[in-house]
Amino acid sequence: MRQFSGFFGPYGGQFVPEPVKSMLDELDHAFQKYRNDPEFFDEYQYYLRQYAGRPNPLYFCANLTRHLGGAKIYLKREDLNHLGAHKINNTIGQILLAKRMGKKKIIAETGAGQHGVATAATAALMGMECTIYMGAVDVERQRLNVFRMEMMGARVVPAQSGQKTLKEAVDEAIEAWVREGDAFYLLGSAVGPHPYPLMVREFQAVVGREAREQILAQEGRLPDACIACVGGGSNAIGLFSGFMDDTEVRLIGVEPAGRGLEYGQHAATLCLGEPGTMHGFYSYMLKDASGGPAEVYSISAGLDYPSVGPEHAYLKDSGRAQYVYASDQEAVDAFFLLSRLEGIIPALESAHALAHAVAVAPTLPRDAVLVVNLSGRGDKDVEQVERLVRQGELRIPSL
Ligand SMILES: *Cc1c(COP(=O)(O)O)cnc(C)c1O
Repeated sequence: MRQFSGFFGPYGGQFVPEPVKSMLDELDHAFQKYRNDPEFFDEYQYYLRQYAGRPNPLYFCANLTRHLGGAKIYLKREDLNHLGAHKINNTIGQILLAKRMGKKKIIAETGAGQHGVATAATAALMGMECTIYMGAVDVERQRLNVFRMEMMGARVVPAQSGQKTLKEAVDEAIEAWVREGDAFYLLGSAVGPHPYPLMVREFQAVVGREAREQILAQEGRLPDACIACVGGGSNAIGLFSGFMDDTEVRLIGVEPAGRGLEYGQHAATLCLGEPGTMHGFYSYMLKDASGGPAEVYSISAGLDYPSVGPEHAYLKDSGRAQYVYASDQEAVDAFFLLSRLEGIIPALESAHALAHAVAVAPTLPRDAVLVVNLSGRGDKDVEQVERLVRQGELRIPSL
């Protein structure tokens, strides 16, 4: 078998200084060694089952489907995993790799705190020391997630440089990783230099493997389309990877259009960006006037990143996947619709994927089948939505 070069077409790579490159090579070596090791895979499967609660259901939304009057909508219920999102699939995989490499310390970045919480939990589980870098602004905005991480034994370090959000948290986490020398850097999405995009896809591929088996068992055929929200792109690539060779299945990624398509109001990187390099990899990117990372915005903190996983850039150019966007209000409408019709409160991130399904389902025949990745549960977002509704910034849609 040909060795994977670290590139998806022209995208990906390792655009990093020499000391980081040798650490990435050590990681790549370990990943290549264990990815096909049956014992490693068994242990990974054990924790997915016993700790994360997999497999989760592929749920048919009978009420939503009837309401929309078109394609059948199925949800892959990643919201039912331990900690309420797909993030745990990846943190379990990477921490087991860290253990195999003899590492005792974990370093991670987090934006809103979802990846930080999943990392803190798995570090507690494995008895490892854990430091999470989080932008100082996010530390203020997400006090409860900081407390959660600390409860599970992690140290949370506020990143004080620049805009003090996710980008700076990544910068400072990488600095700390180089400084410490013997720590394991546990990256939270399918981004970053090689081998992270490949490794994160592999640990999220369980989503697509299960979904493919489940839809075949429940419908007796493959879906017409798989739909997932795209921030860095890990939940989407996890689902897509299960259907990559089924060329009749459309793969659709949904990006956040935020408040509008003007500069600074969205984070629709693949739809509106251009190729560029940041955080050590080449992909699509939203740029400011001087070519650096743009300011980005989305109502869901998990989606506001000015780049995107390099494999998605490749899938876009090759035409194998399509990328569209949904606005804050469209996501919020879907957030209320699913709550009202199915009694399931989706994460605002996942509500972007759902919003696209809600838009296209009525245009499709009744025997069409859509699989939507419900990447997380929305309990974390209820307080924010309640406040925005109270302040008149969002309206509750009528059915
Ligand atoms: C973090 C997160 C996302 C965005 O990350 P991806 O890597 O694009 O999947 C989406 N949904 C939920 C629930 C998240 O926590």
